[in-house]
Amino acid sequence: MSDGRADGSSGPTPHLDTLALHAGQPPDPATGAVSVPIVLSTTFAQRAPGEHQGFSYTRTGNPNRAQLETSVAALEGAQHGYAFASGMAAIAALLQTLRPGQRVVATADLYGGTYRLLERVVRLLGVDVVFVDVGQPAAVEEALATETAFLWLESPTNPLLKVVDIAALARLAHARGALVVVDNTFATPMLQRPLTLGADVVVHSTTKFINGHSDVLGGVVVTSRAPLAEQLAFIQNAGGAVPSPFDCYLTLRGIKTLPVRMARHVDNTEHLAAFLAQHPQVERVHYPGLPEHPQHALACAQMTRPGAVLSIVLRADGAGTRRFLSALRLFSLAESLGGVESLVSYPPEMSHASMPRELRLAQGITDSFVRISSGLEHPADLVDDLDRALSATK
Ligand code: PLP
Repeated sequence: MSDGRADGSSGPTPHLDTLALHAGQPPDPATGAVSVPIVLSTTFAQRAPGEHQGFSYTRTGNPNRAQLETSVAALEGAQHGYAFASGMAAIAALLQTLRPGQRVVATADLYGGTYRLLERVVRLLGVDVVFVDVGQPAAVEEALATETAFLWLESPTNPLLKVVDIAALARLAHARGALVVVDNTFATPMLQRPLTLGADVVVHSTTKFINGHSDVLGGVVVTSRAPLAEQLAFIQNAGGAVPSPFDCYLTLRGIKTLPVRMARHVDNTEHLAAFLAQHPQVERVHYPGLPEHPQHALACAQMTRPGAVLSIVLRADGAGTRRFLSALRLFSLAESLGGVESLVSYPPEMSHASMPRELRLAQGITDSFVRISSGLEHPADLVDDLDRALSATK
């Protein structure tokens, strides 16, 4: 895997900020183009049957996809990366490596789409799926007592922003022979690198911060486990849920500014969290950066910064919460997060609508629950917008 040194020289591994600009994307050897050319061709001429220059057919491999895969793998410190047409396609491909009778133990506090895939697709294919509160080591140990293929984690979680102890859970899982998968969508490698904490596989919805401009759907799986990587390459080609070269190019372009975007996203989120935590209309703020967050110390130890998504529980009921959402002007009420524009979402009826109501309420995702993804606007303007909309809840 190239880490971006065009001349192939050795030396210390570059910092993440440098990798974001160079890993996988040296100047084009044919033309010297510094911004990588987009290769739209679906097929590649062969000198003789089977004799090609690394690419034969774009479902199997494409230069732009290879560049994106190399870039994300380098940022996560992995040997291998595989890009897909969406985060869910990446997650589905990883789950397709399982066979009937194998077992997945997943955090109960899981992105709704992953929950739906596990519960309504993967389980029906004969894979044993178990959800546990991964904050309870005894419950995890009990779940792992039966042979398990994957322990599936998210940290910080969507939308409760719980932080799970990846290193401790990896030790538990490895003692039982399970591989640890971490969905690192919320943190990105700029804030957290699960493989360095002991995880085996990282998945991303690149639709979020990694692309960062709310204009490309995508997903990536990275790992340094060679046998799993081989299976993923096979499934990627066999299933064909691959991103287009243009989408790969755009995502790679987004990655160039990921370090600076994440720094500003986190600055803004810290600012909003401090404002919301003291607001009379706000009952609770879920944000690992606040000292009162139950896993604040763990977040400080495990992440370089506490993330760029927060959730709030309003004092208002469901109707008041809807008034708040409609009164916002700068924050768009929309699915998704991690874009340069600020977004709010209403998990009860959006990302977590597919989760049974009782399960949702038991987790604290009430009808007054709102998730906020702060963009790159000036923080004072964001505070003004929230303040004005909060007065509409009274
Ligand atoms: N994982 C997490 C944590 C997510 O938030 C999402 C989408 O919101 C996904 C996976 C799925 O990604 P995509 O929407 O790109 O399929």
